[in-house]
Amino acid sequence: MSSLMSATSSTVVNKAQWKNILVVGGSVAGHSFVNAIAPNLPPNYRLIIIERNEFVQHSSFVVRALVAPGWENGDFTAPMNQHTVFPINSRHRVVCPNRVVKLRRNTVWLEHDFEGSDEIEFEKCVIATGAQSPVPIRPAPGSTLEQWKDELRAKQAEMKDAKSILIVGGGSVGIEVAGEIYDLYGRTKKITIVHWDVGLLHPSDSGANTKHTYVPPRTSMKLVSALQRQLTARGVEFVLCDRVDFSAAEAEEWGGKSGALGEMKRVPLVSGRYIMADYVFDSTGNKPNSQLVSSVDPGAVTTNGYVSIDSMFRIRGSHPQSIFKGQYYALGDVANAPSWKTGVAAMSEGEALAKIMTAEIKGWPAKPYSPSSKLKESTVLLGSRGGAAIINLPIIGNIRAPDFVVDRKSRDFLADKIFFSRFRQLGYTDSTVNL
Ligand SMILES: Cc1cc2nc3c(=O)[nH]c(=O)nc-3n(C[C@H](O)[C@H](O)[C@H](O)COP(=O)(O)OP(=O)(O)OC[C@H]3O[C@@H](n4cnc5c(N)ncnc54)[C@H](O)[C@@H]3O)c2cc1C
Repeated sequence: MSSLMSATSSTVVNKAQWKNILVVGGSVAGHSFVNAIAPNLPPNYRLIIIERNEFVQHSSFVVRALVAPGWENGDFTAPMNQHTVFPINSRHRVVCPNRVVKLRRNTVWLEHDFEGSDEIEFEKCVIATGAQSPVPIRPAPGSTLEQWKDELRAKQAEMKDAKSILIVGGGSVGIEVAGEIYDLYGRTKKITIVHWDVGLLHPSDSGANTKHTYVPPRTSMKLVSALQRQLTARGVEFVLCDRVDFSAAEAEEWGGKSGALGEMKRVPLVSGRYIMADYVFDSTGNKPNSQLVSSVDPGAVTTNGYVSIDSMFRIRGSHPQSIFKGQYYALGDVANAPSWKTGVAAMSEGEALAKIMTAEIKGWPAKPYSPSSKLKESTVLLGSRGGAAIINLPIIGNIRAPDFVVDRKSRDFLADKIFFSRFRQLGYTDSTVNL
């Protein structure tokens, strides 16, 4: 019997013979890693991908689903199960919905049993738990698809009733939501973005990314200026170098609440200014889901909450007794890899980790990860009829991209190209995946 035949028949191979590679989190980073490593694994290795939600979403699309009624039913989610991830008869497993609740040196604890136990042994474990944003920008942990759609509908209805919308945070989500609101309602709603930096996104120099603190790369001023010009032309106001003063909120009738305020209220800024708003959209960014790591080794997480990794994606234990001894890896939004926290970067990291781990398993030399200059490219949409993009060319560096780059993304938020292409039966066509 060939080694492949014996490996594909779970009835003849004792499950204790598998060397498990666990992947915690089944979204962009985890799933991209799985697709890239599966064809290269020796037959005695098995992938187990654990995802807490019954579905995953293409987040780019969400900015429209937050605003425009009906778009919550758009084509931007996929069920996470054995059939959408692995071919029939695969030895690899999807464990979903289920949640990893505790990391140990060579096992993890699950919320629900898998193969008769709530503890799984592993050879290598990849933490791809991403980040959490205020619901429903990302679904709540454990949310069903219907629950999330209901939350999105509630947001759309609240925004419809609002007259003056304050967007807290001028990152790409805040900007794109402003563009969607204008697209649907024109100038009938006042839109104000309050942002801490000297321009929207992140144009100022905040220093270098280190193992102790994650610092995102700067945004090209060409992109910032193009977006600011278009927003101004749409009547969107932005207040820069300022922040909403949440600490003063208790003394104000506003009370620090986000969402619909019921009536026009004064929202205080740190500068002493006030913005009058009846709706506050909290877009202050992502919070890395790094609690699994920090709860067993707080020093393995940066000062701003990202899992600290080396250039091979290995989690850096912070003391000799740490459980992190090179068998744990992290990537995507949860880790401090030196790129923007984007889906495109998470895909690239997943593919890079697959190469590194394949080399480790086969005893080949592995090349440390270094982000490609393509990850400095960015497209930010302003509804269906606006936005700007930069591309990165060798020697020349960043330039504004032609309009068709923006038009291409605005057609379907690149869902076919970078989301459904990950899933079997929905778009994935690589027939070489190793059973
Ligand atoms: C509204 C919005 C718009 C965006 N637009 C763009 C864009 O246009 N282009 C772009 O490139 N990027 C965009 N991004 C960023 C992009 O979505 C993220 O960078 C990307 O999703 C990161 O992937 P990830 O797999 O690291 O994390 P996530 O996508 O956050 O996935 C982590 C997964 O882990 C699961 N999980 C967490 N904890 C556990 C646990 N204990 N057990 C089991 N499972 C767990 C979660 O349920 C989740 O499915 C956008 C993000 C948002 C929120």
